[in-house]
Amino acid sequence: RAKAQQNNSYKFFDAAMHTQALNRLTLETDLRKALNQQEFVVYYQPIFDLFNHRLFGFEALVRWQHPTRGFISPDEFISIAEETGFIVPLDNWVLYNACQQIASWENQFANGSSFKISINLSAQDLRKVNLIQDVDDILADTGLAGHSLTLEITESLLIENIDQTIDLLVQLASRNIQISIDDFGTGYSSLGYLHRFPVNNLKIDRSFVDQIQSESREYHVVDTIIALGQHLGLSVIAEGVETTQQLEWLQQLRCEFGQGYLFSKPLAAAEIERRYLARLEETYNSNEG
Ligand code: C2E
Ligand code: MG
Ligand code: MG
Ligand code: MG
Repeated sequence: RAKAQQNNSYKFFDAAMHTQALNRLTLETDLRKALNQQEFVVYYQPIFDLFNHRLFGFEALVRWQHPTRGFISPDEFISIAEETGFIVPLDNWVLYNACQQIASWENQFANGSSFKISINLSAQDLRKVNLIQDVDDILADTGLAGHSLTLEITESLLIENIDQTIDLLVQLASRNIQISIDDFGTGYSSLGYLHRFPVNNLKIDRSFVDQIQSESREYHVVDTIIALGQHLGLSVIAEGVETTQQLEWLQQLRCEFGQGYLFSKPLAAAEIERRYLARLEETYNSNEG
């Protein structure tokens, strides 16, 4: 009986693996078509100054509206896109669209000042030879200034090819483009050479923010990241702020910026305009009047 049971569980495992592999294969094929069929949308999550409560900028997060499966989360398709190389055209599309959107918001709502847009890059984006050229073209095309653009990379990308990465980041810095280290604290610790890279911001991974109650391990990690940021002259942004309790701990630790469901989920552009930008204009108008 034990044998039969074992066999059954093997069969079950096989079937599950088969479905998974099939699922992956169709996703791969669908991904390649999705860009031309305009199934991707850029959502924007506001980032706030935790002390004056003002809107600091936005993070661009891609969304896939699949024609038959509906909404598919980035956690499901970004890794496939990375493995297949599709991430490079996808991120270039996100970069173009988000820069265009921000440039248009600056014209419409910023009253002569600027907004900040933060865009995620993957390892393969950094490795492509024409990254700088593509960024230059997009800035020129959309009219967005370099200082409005931040690129997010993860810690482990920094140490993949140190000299080449420094060279790339220096070129971006000369265009006033900012660099954020995303999911900071989760990757291979690059503490030893973080100071060698021209980066501007550290984004505290939401797994730490999630467990930030006093005297927890995570509390001390957050404390340490903020201190590190201060020593190196980097701004610190907390990700995944969900409760007022977490916000209070972050403020107590003097974390400057935050994003999370407590403030706002990532939203479609029209929703951002309605909730944040139209209101911004209203305030300007009422100030004038
Ligand atoms: P990330 O760059 O760390 O982005 C933050 C993620 O946390 C987003 O998930 C966001 O929706 C989510 N988030 C924000 N606030 C909260 C909160 O309060 N609670 C919780 N539980 N989650 C929160 P999303 O949009 O599903 O994206 C997942 C990851 O996929 C991103 O993590 C990023 O690494 C990647 N990604 C998303 N868009 C792009 C893109 O255009 N290009 C590349 N290369 N990667 C992307
Ligand atoms: Mg990010
Ligand atoms: Mg990221
Ligand atoms: Mg992150």
